[in-house]
Amino acid sequence: SHDTSSHAHNGVQEDATNGAGPSSLSKAAAIQEQRKDLPIAQGREALIEEIRKNDVTVLLGETGSGKTTQVPQYLLESGLVGNGMIAVTQPRRVAATSLAARVAQEQNAPLGQLVGYAVRFDEKSTSNTRIKYMTDGMIVRELLSDPMLSKYSVVVVDEAHERTLRTDLLLANLKKIIKKRNEPTKRDAKGKNNTTSSNPLKIVVMSATLDAEKFSKFFSGAKILYVKGRQHPVKIYHSAEHQMDYVDSAMRTFFQIHTDQPPGDVLIFLPGQEDIESLQASIELFARQLPVNSPNVLICSMFAAQDSRKNIQAFAPAPPNTRKCILATNIAETSITIPGVKYVIDTGKCKEKQFLARAGGGGLDTLLTKDITQSSAMQRTGRAGREGSGMCFRLYPESAFKAMQVSSEPEILRTSLTSSILQLKCLGQDMQDLDLMDKPDEESIISAFRTLWLLGSVDQKGSLTPAGRKMAAFPVDPMYACSIVASEGLQCTSEVIDIISVLSSSSKLFVDISDQRDAVAEQRRKFRHPSGDHMTILNVVRAYEEISASNGTTSANKNKAAKREWCRKHFLNERTLLEAQEIRNQLRTVCERENINWTVSALKKTAVVGGAKEDGVIHEEDSIIKALGHGLTGNAAFLQPDGTYKQIMGPSIVKIHPSSVLCDKKVAAIIYDELVFTNHIYARGVSSIPKSFFATHEPLKQRHA
Ligand code: ADP
Ligand code: MG
Repeated sequence: SHDTSSHAHNGVQEDATNGAGPSSLSKAAAIQEQRKDLPIAQGREALIEEIRKNDVTVLLGETGSGKTTQVPQYLLESGLVGNGMIAVTQPRRVAATSLAARVAQEQNAPLGQLVGYAVRFDEKSTSNTRIKYMTDGMIVRELLSDPMLSKYSVVVVDEAHERTLRTDLLLANLKKIIKKRNEPTKRDAKGKNNTTSSNPLKIVVMSATLDAEKFSKFFSGAKILYVKGRQHPVKIYHSAEHQMDYVDSAMRTFFQIHTDQPPGDVLIFLPGQEDIESLQASIELFARQLPVNSPNVLICSMFAAQDSRKNIQAFAPAPPNTRKCILATNIAETSITIPGVKYVIDTGKCKEKQFLARAGGGGLDTLLTKDITQSSAMQRTGRAGREGSGMCFRLYPESAFKAMQVSSEPEILRTSLTSSILQLKCLGQDMQDLDLMDKPDEESIISAFRTLWLLGSVDQKGSLTPAGRKMAAFPVDPMYACSIVASEGLQCTSEVIDIISVLSSSSKLFVDISDQRDAVAEQRRKFRHPSGDHMTILNVVRAYEEISASNGTTSANKNKAAKREWCRKHFLNERTLLEAQEIRNQLRTVCERENINWTVSALKKTAVVGGAKEDGVIHEEDSIIKALGHGLTGNAAFLQPDGTYKQIMGPSIVKIHPSSVLCDKKVAAIIYDELVFTNHIYARGVSSIPKSFFATHEPLKQRHA
């Protein structure tokens, strides 16, 4: 029989809240054994010593060697930080939350106490937290309230090689901060009198790739340390030809491995959630047709928008006679190591943000599926050789590998700078003057200023306005922050926050099941609002709340089940609604801090369900649409005689997306959440807005004057 307890230490799915009971005792011991066995453990003392000696240390080491989970614990256990706090930054929220869970378990402490995390809209930490895993975006936001990051004794900048925009901004600020915070200590050493209480900062920059020189140079020749990994040989197989359908090709490759190769788990890299879901469906379908004597297939997936408990399942060992197949985005490239993997299938694709500064208006942020870089391909291959020799199947020819870019461009050179420039303005900093590792394009900076001016966050001279300072306090896109600030004067903050919470959620509200199109359309009609998609979202939010209220007397479990069933019946993603509630709570808290009364509501009734207002008599929604319009002025278009719409701030001709409530309607003017490119440019998330709104819009009036 199979002894599962010997494997239990591999998973974090079990709660680490109490250390009681014999099984958790042995589990804790096993975890300590595993810690000692990591490659980095041998260098522990030397590492602590170097960090003690130097203000800035650059640490390189192969993925899986123990950098992210161990270094913060070493710093804590060695007493190097005294009572100070250690921040560990991550580019991705999934990594921040799951690593915090793992390290809390290693410390045998409940998550959120000694070890916690902070990601946008979700924080688990207390004033006693000593190790905090957080996204680079969160720590940059913390600069607004604590410009010296005085809470932290050590900032570990992890995955620095990814060079995200936030990591670059953090590095630039850390360089400034360390000068100020560590200077008094040096003067002390020279015996000069000095009244500043010294609270020195240490910086550890960690990376999985070998291009450390640039980081070291940036910090005036910081010491570089290397951790030796334990990499076993991996045999690489390229496909003979380009694959038109990488999902199908990944499926066939998986079953070849499954039928021909010895045991070992399979990790498949895909660009995003849609591909992961479609591959999962087809593997499950074919797995049912396998001969009865072949091993079972267990599929796990890991991607940013997925529930963290589901992501964590990927760490659990496969049951006996089962091959685990993990479908992941590039999260599993360097941030997260999943044990047991012997085979890697690499589609060669990833999703990357690309900002088109020339696209008109404030420019355009797009998320495109594109070829990975050689450096990513090598990281992906390496995942197969962690525990023994492995195999990597690249679904592209060797010529394609050779044609790939060597490494990716820093994000600061290819993303919208609007929200960062606004945050920097609040710190009294200008992007142009900051000591950055790479300077962004002039054009992107101009485009960001144009957007900020249109939102009223900066004036014509580019100086921050009081409204702009308010907007910066909201952790959402500046567009939506602008709408929230505008909702105050328009007396509709309650509704605007409800809508924006859904729009800021990481997954879509409406589920589309292509083989049930009619049923979906029929259910959706119930929420349809004649003004468009934004009020339709509000209808869904309110109807969902009614379900909770109407089940108020029943048990919590029954209520939960009723809500789940209601969402299923109406083809709605409940995860989105639950996440939106969390976001809403946070936005309400920010409103309170900014003295905006979020209870002010434009609608008399709690629910406005139904298309009953087709006659257009009552227009309670007018103020809500106007508030949204303030934020979405850069995303507005006027109807043309041929039935298409022309952007008012840009050159593009757009059509309304088929998924929109307004898709077959002709209205004089629209605002939209985003553009999508297929055979046309489509506007998605559309509402009708009175054309007269734009005649009274201040920045636009100035522009025409
Ligand atoms: P690095 O940062 O150098 O890539 P990590 O510190 O992230 O390394 O990981 C060290 C080891 O901890 C890895 O071998 C990984 O398998 C293990 N590990 C990390 N998270 C978990 C988890 N949630 N469950 C089980 N093992 C984990
Ligand atoms: Mg790591």
